[in-house]
Amino acid sequence: MTPARYQPPCLDMSVPPHLPRLLQGSDVLVFRPQCSVYCKALLHWSKADDVTVLTLRIVGAALSWWEDGKEKLSETFGLHPSCTVFQLELYALHRATRLVSSSTDNKVNILSDSRSSLDLLRNPKLSHPLARSIKENIARVVCEGREIKMFWLRAHIGTAGNERADELAKTAALQSTSHDYDKVPLSYVRKKIREESVRKWQDRYATSSTGAVTRKFLPDVNQAYRITRSAKLTPAHVQMLTGHGGMGEYLYRFKLKESPKCECDPNIIESVWHIILDCPRFLAARQDLETLIDWNLVESELKDILADTKHRPHFLSYSDRVFRVAARRNSTIAPTRNQYQYFKPQSQPSQHHHKQLLKKQQHISCWIVEKKEKLD
Ligand SMILES: [Zn+2]
Repeated sequence: MTPARYQPPCLDMSVPPHLPRLLQGSDVLVFRPQCSVYCKALLHWSKADDVTVLTLRIVGAALSWWEDGKEKLSETFGLHPSCTVFQLELYALHRATRLVSSSTDNKVNILSDSRSSLDLLRNPKLSHPLARSIKENIARVVCEGREIKMFWLRAHIGTAGNERADELAKTAALQSTSHDYDKVPLSYVRKKIREESVRKWQDRYATSSTGAVTRKFLPDVNQAYRITRSAKLTPAHVQMLTGHGGMGEYLYRFKLKESPKCECDPNIIESVWHIILDCPRFLAARQDLETLIDWNLVESELKDILADTKHRPHFLSYSDRVFRVAARRNSTIAPTRNQYQYFKPQSQPSQHHHKQLLKKQQHISCWIVEKKEKLD
Protein backbone atom coordinates (compact mmCIF):
# COMPACT_ATOMS: atom_id res chain seq x y z
CA MET A 1 0.00 0.00 0.00
CA THR A 2 1.48 3.35 -1.00
CA PRO A 3 -0.93 6.07 0.12
CA ALA A 4 0.05 9.72 0.15
CA ARG A 5 0.08 11.73 3.36
CA TYR A 6 -2.63 14.33 3.47
CA GLN A 7 -3.18 17.28 5.79
CA PRO A 8 -6.54 17.28 7.61
CA PRO A 9 -8.60 19.75 5.62
CA CYS A 10 -9.19 23.28 6.86
CA LEU A 11 -8.89 22.59 10.55
CA ASP A 12 -6.13 25.09 11.08
CA MET A 13 -5.68 27.34 8.11
CA SER A 14 -2.71 29.11 9.73
CA VAL A 15 -0.68 25.98 9.00
CA PRO A 16 0.09 25.65 5.29
CA PRO A 17 -1.30 22.32 4.10
CA HIS A 18 1.18 19.81 2.74
CA LEU A 19 0.93 18.78 -0.80
CA PRO A 20 -0.01 15.11 -1.24
CA ARG A 21 3.11 12.96 -1.48
CA LEU A 22 3.91 9.29 -1.51
CA LEU A 23 5.01 7.78 1.79
CA GLN A 24 8.63 6.70 2.05
CA GLY A 25 10.90 5.10 4.62
CA SER A 26 10.00 6.07 8.18
CA ASP A 27 6.70 7.62 7.01
CA VAL A 28 5.44 4.12 6.34
CA LEU A 29 5.94 3.30 9.99
CA VAL A 30 3.92 6.38 10.95
CA PHE A 31 1.11 5.27 8.67
CA ARG A 32 0.00 2.20 10.57
CA PRO A 33 -3.57 3.08 11.30
CA GLN A 34 -5.46 0.93 13.72
CA CYS A 35 -8.71 2.03 12.10
CA SER A 36 -9.03 2.86 8.42
CA VAL A 37 -12.15 3.88 6.55
CA TYR A 38 -11.93 3.35 2.83
CA CYS A 39 -14.50 5.39 0.97
CA LYS A 40 -15.36 4.98 -2.66
CA ALA A 41 -17.68 6.76 -5.07
CA LEU A 42 -18.57 5.17 -8.36
CA LEU A 43 -19.98 6.55 -11.59
CA HIS A 44 -20.52 4.05 -14.33
CA TRP A 45 -22.16 4.01 -17.74
CA SER A 46 -23.83 0.71 -18.36
CA LYS A 47 -25.06 -0.59 -21.70
CA ALA A 48 -28.68 -1.47 -21.11
CA ASP A 49 -29.77 -2.51 -24.55
CA ASP A 50 -27.65 -4.18 -27.21
CA VAL A 51 -29.98 -3.10 -30.00
CA THR A 52 -30.28 0.63 -29.37
CA VAL A 53 -26.97 0.88 -27.45
CA LEU A 54 -28.77 2.83 -24.77
CA THR A 55 -26.49 3.64 -21.85
CA LEU A 56 -27.58 4.20 -18.27
CA ARG A 57 -25.78 6.36 -15.76
CA ILE A 58 -25.44 4.41 -12.54
CA VAL A 59 -23.97 5.86 -9.37
CA GLY A 60 -23.16 4.49 -5.94
CA ALA A 61 -20.88 4.96 -2.96
CA ALA A 62 -19.58 2.73 -0.18
CA LEU A 63 -17.48 2.65 3.00
CA SER A 64 -15.40 -0.15 4.39
CA TRP A 65 -14.11 0.13 7.99
CA TRP A 66 -11.00 -1.93 8.67
CA GLU A 67 -9.32 -2.77 11.96
CA ASP A 68 -6.16 -4.84 12.32
CA GLY A 69 -6.34 -6.02 8.73
CA LYS A 70 -9.98 -7.12 8.85
CA GLU A 71 -13.19 -5.48 7.82
CA LYS A 72 -15.21 -4.38 10.82
CA LEU A 73 -18.24 -2.95 9.05
CA SER A 74 -19.35 -1.64 5.69
CA GLU A 75 -22.02 0.68 4.33
CA THR A 76 -23.40 1.18 0.84
CA PHE A 77 -25.30 4.19 -0.49
CA GLY A 78 -27.56 4.72 -3.45
CA LEU A 79 -27.55 8.18 -5.00
CA HIS A 80 -29.76 9.90 -7.54
CA PRO A 81 -28.46 9.16 -11.08
CA SER A 82 -28.21 12.88 -11.84
CA CYS A 83 -25.60 13.45 -9.10
CA THR A 84 -22.28 14.77 -10.33
CA VAL A 85 -18.95 13.04 -9.65
CA PHE A 86 -18.16 15.92 -7.28
CA GLN A 87 -21.34 15.24 -5.27
CA LEU A 88 -20.65 11.49 -5.22
CA GLU A 89 -17.15 11.85 -3.86
CA LEU A 90 -18.10 14.46 -1.31
CA TYR A 91 -21.01 12.33 -0.14
CA ALA A 92 -18.72 9.33 0.40
CA LEU A 93 -16.35 11.52 2.46
CA HIS A 94 -19.31 13.01 4.33
CA ARG A 95 -20.54 9.57 5.38
CA ALA A 96 -17.02 8.49 6.32
CA THR A 97 -16.45 11.52 8.58
CA ARG A 98 -19.92 11.09 10.07
CA LEU A 99 -19.14 7.47 10.87
CA VAL A 100 -15.88 8.48 12.56
CA SER A 101 -17.67 11.26 14.43
CA SER A 102 -20.22 8.80 15.85
CA SER A 103 -17.52 6.27 16.82
CA THR A 104 -15.35 6.29 19.95
CA ASP A 105 -12.02 5.43 18.30
CA ASN A 106 -9.21 7.83 19.13
CA LYS A 107 -7.33 7.66 15.87
CA VAL A 108 -8.97 7.00 12.53
CA ASN A 109 -7.66 7.48 9.01
CA ILE A 110 -9.93 8.07 6.05
CA LEU A 111 -8.59 6.87 2.73
CA SER A 112 -10.02 7.94 -0.59
CA ASP A 113 -8.78 7.55 -4.14
CA SER A 114 -10.41 10.86 -5.08
CA ARG A 115 -7.56 13.33 -4.93
CA SER A 116 -9.65 16.15 -6.41
CA SER A 117 -12.20 15.99 -3.55
CA LEU A 118 -9.48 16.01 -0.91
CA ASP A 119 -7.85 18.99 -2.60
CA LEU A 120 -11.17 20.80 -2.79
CA LEU A 121 -11.77 20.33 0.92
CA ARG A 122 -8.71 22.43 1.62
CA ASN A 123 -10.37 25.41 0.03
CA PRO A 124 -11.83 27.59 2.87
CA LYS A 125 -14.22 29.26 0.40
CA LEU A 126 -15.88 25.99 -0.62
CA SER A 127 -19.50 26.50 0.38
CA HIS A 128 -21.07 23.24 -0.79
CA PRO A 129 -23.35 21.82 1.96
CA LEU A 130 -21.58 18.44 1.86
CA ALA A 131 -18.16 20.08 2.20
CA ARG A 132 -19.44 22.14 5.15
CA SER A 133 -20.82 19.01 6.76
CA ILE A 134 -17.48 17.17 6.33
CA LYS A 135 -15.64 20.06 8.00
CA GLU A 136 -18.13 20.12 10.88
CA ASN A 137 -17.72 16.35 11.43
CA ILE A 138 -13.94 16.69 11.49
CA ALA A 139 -14.10 19.67 13.87
CA ARG A 140 -16.35 17.67 16.22
CA VAL A 141 -13.87 14.77 16.34
CA VAL A 142 -10.94 17.13 16.95
CA CYS A 143 -12.86 18.98 19.72
CA GLU A 144 -13.31 15.65 21.50
CA GLY A 145 -9.50 15.26 21.58
CA ARG A 146 -9.51 12.51 18.99
CA GLU A 147 -7.57 12.38 15.76
CA ILE A 148 -8.80 12.06 12.20
CA LYS A 149 -6.57 12.12 9.15
CA MET A 150 -7.38 11.98 5.48
CA PHE A 151 -5.18 10.30 2.89
CA TRP A 152 -5.19 9.94 -0.82
CA LEU A 153 -4.83 6.35 -1.92
CA ARG A 154 -3.91 5.36 -5.45
CA ALA A 155 -6.78 3.36 -6.97
CA HIS A 156 -6.54 -0.18 -8.32
CA ILE A 157 -3.14 -1.09 -6.90
CA GLY A 158 -4.45 -4.07 -4.95
CA THR A 159 -5.09 -2.45 -1.56
CA ALA A 160 -7.51 -4.84 0.10
CA GLY A 161 -9.65 -2.16 1.80
CA ASN A 162 -9.93 -0.05 -1.33
CA GLU A 163 -10.75 -3.04 -3.53
CA ARG A 164 -13.46 -4.04 -1.07
CA ALA A 165 -14.93 -0.49 -1.07
CA ASP A 166 -14.85 -0.53 -4.87
CA GLU A 167 -16.78 -3.80 -4.96
CA LEU A 168 -19.34 -2.49 -2.48
CA ALA A 169 -19.83 0.73 -4.47
CA LYS A 170 -20.50 -1.29 -7.62
CA THR A 171 -23.10 -3.38 -5.80
CA ALA A 172 -24.72 -0.20 -4.43
CA ALA A 173 -24.82 1.37 -7.89
CA LEU A 174 -26.40 -1.68 -9.51
CA GLN A 175 -28.75 -2.84 -6.77
CA SER A 176 -29.86 0.14 -4.70
CA THR A 177 -33.50 1.02 -5.23
CA SER A 178 -33.70 4.06 -2.94
CA HIS A 179 -31.59 7.20 -2.85
CA ASP A 180 -29.64 8.13 0.27
CA TYR A 181 -28.77 11.40 -1.43
CA ASP A 182 -31.01 12.94 -4.06
CA LYS A 183 -30.12 16.63 -4.13
CA VAL A 184 -29.73 17.28 -7.81
CA PRO A 185 -27.14 19.80 -8.98
CA LEU A 186 -28.12 23.14 -10.52
CA SER A 187 -26.68 21.96 -13.85
CA TYR A 188 -29.25 19.14 -13.86
CA VAL A 189 -32.14 21.60 -13.35
CA ARG A 190 -30.78 23.82 -16.13
CA LYS A 191 -30.46 20.80 -18.40
CA LYS A 192 -34.06 19.73 -17.72
CA ILE A 193 -35.41 23.25 -18.36
CA ARG A 194 -33.48 23.40 -21.61
CA GLU A 195 -34.71 19.96 -22.69
CA GLU A 196 -38.30 21.01 -22.03
CA SER A 197 -37.87 24.28 -23.94
CA VAL A 198 -36.35 22.44 -26.90
CA ARG A 199 -39.18 19.89 -26.83
CA LYS A 200 -41.82 22.66 -27.01
CA TRP A 201 -39.83 24.40 -29.73
CA GLN A 202 -39.66 21.15 -31.71
CA ASP A 203 -43.44 20.65 -31.35
CA ARG A 204 -44.17 24.17 -32.59
CA TYR A 205 -41.65 23.80 -35.42
CA ALA A 206 -43.03 20.42 -36.55
CA THR A 207 -46.67 21.54 -36.55
CA SER A 208 -46.19 25.05 -37.93
CA SER A 209 -48.09 26.01 -41.07
CA THR A 210 -44.99 27.78 -42.41
CA GLY A 211 -41.40 26.66 -42.95
CA ALA A 212 -42.22 23.50 -44.91
CA VAL A 213 -39.08 23.82 -47.07
CA THR A 214 -36.83 24.40 -44.04
CA ARG A 215 -38.28 21.36 -42.28
CA LYS A 216 -37.34 19.14 -45.23
CA PHE A 217 -33.69 20.15 -44.85
CA LEU A 218 -33.63 20.52 -41.07
CA PRO A 219 -36.38 18.46 -39.40
CA ASP A 220 -34.85 18.63 -35.93
CA VAL A 221 -34.36 21.97 -34.15
CA ASN A 222 -31.30 20.80 -32.21
CA GLN A 223 -29.64 19.66 -35.38
CA ALA A 224 -30.72 22.84 -37.19
CA TYR A 225 -29.11 24.93 -34.46
CA ARG A 226 -25.86 22.99 -34.68
CA ILE A 227 -25.70 23.08 -38.49
CA THR A 228 -26.54 26.76 -38.88
CA ARG A 229 -23.94 27.65 -36.25
CA SER A 230 -21.13 25.52 -37.64
CA ALA A 231 -21.67 25.85 -41.42
CA LYS A 232 -20.69 28.99 -43.27
CA LEU A 233 -24.00 29.81 -44.95
CA THR A 234 -24.14 32.19 -47.89
CA PRO A 235 -27.22 34.22 -48.98
CA ALA A 236 -27.82 31.52 -51.64
CA HIS A 237 -27.91 28.84 -48.90
CA VAL A 238 -30.44 30.85 -46.92
CA GLN A 239 -32.60 31.14 -50.04
CA MET A 240 -32.45 27.38 -50.50
CA LEU A 241 -33.12 26.51 -46.84
CA THR A 242 -36.06 28.92 -46.51
CA GLY A 243 -37.47 28.65 -50.04
CA HIS A 244 -37.48 32.47 -50.15
CA GLY A 245 -35.29 33.85 -52.89
CA GLY A 246 -34.52 34.11 -56.56
CA MET A 247 -36.34 30.96 -57.72
CA GLY A 248 -39.25 31.32 -60.19
CA GLU A 249 -41.87 29.83 -57.88
CA TYR A 250 -41.20 32.33 -55.10
CA LEU A 251 -40.89 35.36 -57.41
CA TYR A 252 -44.16 34.48 -59.14
CA ARG A 253 -45.95 34.10 -55.80
CA PHE A 254 -45.05 37.69 -54.93
CA LYS A 255 -45.89 38.92 -58.45
CA LEU A 256 -42.27 39.70 -59.24
CA LYS A 257 -42.23 37.36 -62.25
CA GLU A 258 -44.83 36.63 -64.88
CA SER A 259 -44.40 32.85 -64.75
CA PRO A 260 -43.14 30.35 -62.15
CA LYS A 261 -41.82 28.04 -64.89
CA CYS A 262 -38.20 27.08 -65.29
CA GLU A 263 -36.04 28.04 -68.21
CA CYS A 264 -35.41 24.37 -68.99
CA ASP A 265 -39.04 23.39 -69.54
CA PRO A 266 -42.15 25.62 -69.85
CA ASN A 267 -44.20 22.95 -68.03
CA ILE A 268 -42.03 22.68 -64.93
CA ILE A 269 -42.17 25.04 -61.97
CA GLU A 270 -38.80 26.37 -60.85
CA SER A 271 -38.98 25.33 -57.19
CA VAL A 272 -36.16 24.73 -54.69
CA TRP A 273 -36.45 20.98 -55.29
CA HIS A 274 -36.39 21.32 -59.07
CA ILE A 275 -33.22 23.43 -58.96
CA ILE A 276 -31.36 21.08 -56.61
CA LEU A 277 -32.61 17.70 -57.77
CA ASP A 278 -33.93 17.81 -61.34
CA CYS A 279 -33.07 20.84 -63.41
CA PRO A 280 -31.00 19.68 -66.42
CA ARG A 281 -29.12 22.99 -66.40
CA PHE A 282 -27.16 21.71 -63.39
CA LEU A 283 -26.96 18.05 -64.39
CA ALA A 284 -23.17 17.95 -64.71
CA ALA A 285 -22.58 19.65 -61.36
CA ARG A 286 -25.13 17.34 -59.72
CA GLN A 287 -23.49 14.21 -61.10
CA ASP A 288 -20.10 15.44 -59.92
CA LEU A 289 -21.50 15.96 -56.44
CA GLU A 290 -23.16 12.53 -56.34
CA THR A 291 -19.88 10.88 -57.37
CA LEU A 292 -17.92 12.88 -54.82
CA ILE A 293 -20.16 12.09 -51.85
CA ASP A 294 -21.30 8.69 -53.13
CA TRP A 295 -24.90 9.57 -52.38
CA ASN A 296 -27.99 9.84 -54.57
CA LEU A 297 -29.42 13.31 -54.46
CA VAL A 298 -33.10 12.76 -53.59
CA GLU A 299 -35.41 14.89 -51.48
CA SER A 300 -35.63 12.45 -48.56
CA GLU A 301 -31.83 12.20 -48.29
CA LEU A 302 -31.08 15.95 -48.15
CA LYS A 303 -31.48 16.15 -44.37
CA ASP A 304 -28.95 13.32 -43.90
CA ILE A 305 -26.49 14.86 -46.34
CA LEU A 306 -26.69 18.16 -44.45
CA ALA A 307 -26.25 16.39 -41.12
CA ASP A 308 -23.13 14.61 -42.35
CA THR A 309 -20.17 16.85 -41.51
CA LYS A 310 -17.99 15.18 -44.14
CA HIS A 311 -20.40 15.63 -47.06
CA ARG A 312 -22.10 18.86 -45.98
CA PRO A 313 -19.41 21.23 -47.41
CA HIS A 314 -19.64 19.59 -50.86
CA PHE A 315 -23.42 19.85 -50.91
CA LEU A 316 -23.34 23.46 -49.74
CA SER A 317 -20.79 24.32 -52.40
CA TYR A 318 -23.01 22.79 -55.11
CA SER A 319 -26.21 24.41 -53.85
CA ASP A 320 -24.56 27.82 -53.53
CA ARG A 321 -23.47 27.62 -57.17
CA VAL A 322 -26.83 26.50 -58.63
CA PHE A 323 -28.93 28.94 -56.64
CA ARG A 324 -26.73 31.86 -57.59
CA VAL A 325 -27.08 30.91 -61.25
CA ALA A 326 -30.88 30.58 -60.96
CA ALA A 327 -31.23 33.89 -59.09
CA ARG A 328 -28.99 35.73 -61.54
CA ARG A 329 -31.02 34.45 -64.48
CA ASN A 330 -34.30 35.50 -62.87
CA SER A 331 -32.95 38.98 -62.09
CA THR A 332 -32.27 39.60 -65.83
CA ILE A 333 -35.89 38.94 -66.84
CA ALA A 334 -37.84 42.10 -67.72
CA PRO A 335 -39.92 43.24 -64.74
CA THR A 336 -43.68 42.83 -64.77
CA ARG A 337 -46.00 45.84 -64.36
CA ASN A 338 -46.40 45.12 -60.65
CA GLN A 339 -42.67 44.80 -60.18
CA TYR A 340 -42.20 48.16 -61.93
CA GLN A 341 -44.69 49.77 -59.58
CA TYR A 342 -43.02 48.12 -56.60
CA PHE A 343 -39.53 49.29 -57.42
CA LYS A 344 -40.40 52.75 -58.88
CA PRO A 345 -43.33 54.13 -56.94
CA GLN A 346 -42.07 57.74 -57.27
CA SER A 347 -42.15 57.66 -61.11
CA GLN A 348 -45.94 57.90 -61.15
CA PRO A 349 -47.01 61.46 -60.17
CA SER A 350 -49.57 61.74 -57.44
CA GLN A 351 -53.00 63.34 -58.12
CA HIS A 352 -52.14 66.46 -56.14
CA HIS A 353 -48.82 66.83 -57.93
CA HIS A 354 -50.58 66.28 -61.27
CA LYS A 355 -53.08 69.17 -60.57
CA GLN A 356 -50.22 71.48 -59.63
CA LEU A 357 -48.44 70.63 -62.88
CA LEU A 358 -51.61 71.43 -64.89
CA LYS A 359 -52.01 74.78 -63.12
CA LYS A 360 -48.40 75.67 -63.86
CA GLN A 361 -48.83 74.73 -67.51
CA GLN A 362 -52.02 76.85 -67.76
CA HIS A 363 -50.24 79.78 -66.11
CA ILE A 364 -47.34 79.54 -68.53
CA SER A 365 -49.75 79.28 -71.52
CA CYS A 366 -51.60 82.43 -70.40
CA TRP A 367 -48.33 84.29 -69.93
CA ILE A 368 -47.21 83.30 -73.48
CA VAL A 369 -50.54 84.45 -74.96
CA GLU A 370 -50.29 87.83 -73.17
CA LYS A 371 -46.71 88.34 -74.43
CA LYS A 372 -47.77 87.51 -77.99
CA GLU A 373 -50.69 90.00 -77.85
CA LYS A 374 -48.35 92.73 -76.64
CA LEU A 375 -45.89 92.00 -79.42
CA ASP A 376 -48.67 92.08 -82.00
ZN1 LIG B 1 -35.15 23.63 -64.81
